Amino acid sequence: MLIIFIGPPGSGKGTQASLLCEHLSITHLSTGDMFRTAIQQETELGRHAQDFINQGELVPDQLVVDMVAEAISRPPQADGCLLDGFPRSLPQAESLDEILSADGNGIDAVLELDVDEDTLVARLLDRQRPDDTLETIKNRLEVYSQQTSPLLDYYRQRGQLTSIDGKGTVQDVHERILADLPSGKT
Ligand code: ADP
Repeated sequence: MLIIFIGPPGSGKGTQASLLCEHLSITHLSTGDMFRTAIQQETELGRHAQDFINQGELVPDQLVVDMVAEAISRPPQADGCLLDGFPRSLPQAESLDEILSADGNGIDAVLELDVDEDTLVARLLDRQRPDDTLETIKNRLEVYSQQTSPLLDYYRQRGQLTSIDGKGTVQDVHERILADLPSGKT
């Protein structure tokens, strides 16, 4: 099973992705977490990614695509995973299609967490991550609207997109996601 989770920074995507993975017993693959681990471990990938992340820019597509291709082919991920934070641009979505068609696999569901901008900024300023300064947050929201939001139409046109209202408590949103998951996925 492969589920894609899309949502602007601060939408609660990471939290909801973890809960859903636990519920479905699938692996949670967060590209943001993978990069943060690489930065902490001072790997070559981490050194390459660091400046982009600190400025709120996307890490270059090829670096991300190679990292994800390797991760989703590794057991036990190959049996079921949720991609949190990937794809984040149209070229990444097209690369994912190529990777999956080579494997004979498909996308089971694409979930979008929808939250208004004032709530996003308030939530992000509450966090303590180095890329959560006001200036970087503004840039990440801009990058989301320019580079990531076109993906919503890409998947909507294929009938794969489910949009979920991200307002309310963590538990409210979790229950909404379970209720709205395309049938047969719970
Ligand atoms: P958030 O969703 O709150 O912005 P993430 O943890 O998903 O946080 O991502 C943090 C940063 O990691 C992004 O701002 C970006 O710089 C980088 N990143 C994560 N996923 C991708 C991706 N698919 N493509 C390019 N950059 C990425």
